[in-house]
Amino acid sequence: MLSRWLIPLLIALAGAPLARAGDFLQPLAPGVYVHYGRHADIDSPDRADSANLGVVVGARCVAVIDTGGAVATGEALRAAIRALTNVPVCYVINTHVHFDHVLGNAAFVADGAEFIGQAHLPEEVAASRDFFLENFAHELGEPPSAEKVVAATRTVSDVLSLDLGDRELRLVAAPRAHSVTDLMVLDERSGTLFAGDLLFRERLPIIDGSLKGWLEWLADASATPYARVVPGHGPVDEAWPAGAAPERAYLEALLREIRAGIAAGMTLEEAQDKVGLDALAGWQLTGRAHRLNVSRAYRELEWE
Ligand SMILES: [Zn+2]
Repeated sequence: MLSRWLIPLLIALAGAPLARAGDFLQPLAPGVYVHYGRHADIDSPDRADSANLGVVVGARCVAVIDTGGAVATGEALRAAIRALTNVPVCYVINTHVHFDHVLGNAAFVADGAEFIGQAHLPEEVAASRDFFLENFAHELGEPPSAEKVVAATRTVSDVLSLDLGDRELRLVAAPRAHSVTDLMVLDERSGTLFAGDLLFRERLPIIDGSLKGWLEWLADASATPYARVVPGHGPVDEAWPAGAAPERAYLEALLREIRAGIAAGMTLEEAQDKVGLDALAGWQLTGRAHRLNVSRAYRELEWE
């Protein structure tokens, strides 16, 4: 008899703290949230909010994983966290150097958060500052300044554990793959891996590191049984490694077809027009990204 009213009540109570996250953050597991970015190219106004962002709430500390492509996106993330909990944001972790993951960092400076990234991140952010200021002034707010591009002050060259109070995050530096600054973040309690742009879903992967390194990472990571994997772009994979299959198929097609093309004397320009076209089926934002990928992969493979 009790269950008739007790069960709906328990469901309502259990749902209540999650519902307070509003629309900006979606709950994945207790204390684990994602904000889904929109699929937007670099010349779209939506570029400021085009990457997935993560939040892990512990008893002592909140950790933020990526901050979006604009200070305003970082501020929206910060407001969504404040609506969720009073626990301070102690750590802001960047999964890599690209603008859509780091330009919101400035929103967390006043909180005294520690900024953490892979060992190469500080030098790569420093090298990108002028580019960001020139091309993303609007995203850096009023007035735009190079100081608003906030770099990591603590780096990870191998593995780093962060204690959030009652839960630990395990940060693992990746070798050259999507970029030269990739860092994975595992919430040990829920088994949630934040893969950054090591995993793309729906939106075509972009190679800014190493095609071969990325395929090696995929082989290693696919053998690890994560409860779920949050990609840098696209929906969370709750059936890992199933969600990585399209990315692997695309990257393998590039490797296979560019190797064959180089062996047959194909030029880079010919490769950009001909290689990997079948593998583009089902992907979004393919035009510019695919030509860039072929060019980077060609340069990597032509000397092997
Ligand atoms: Zn990226």
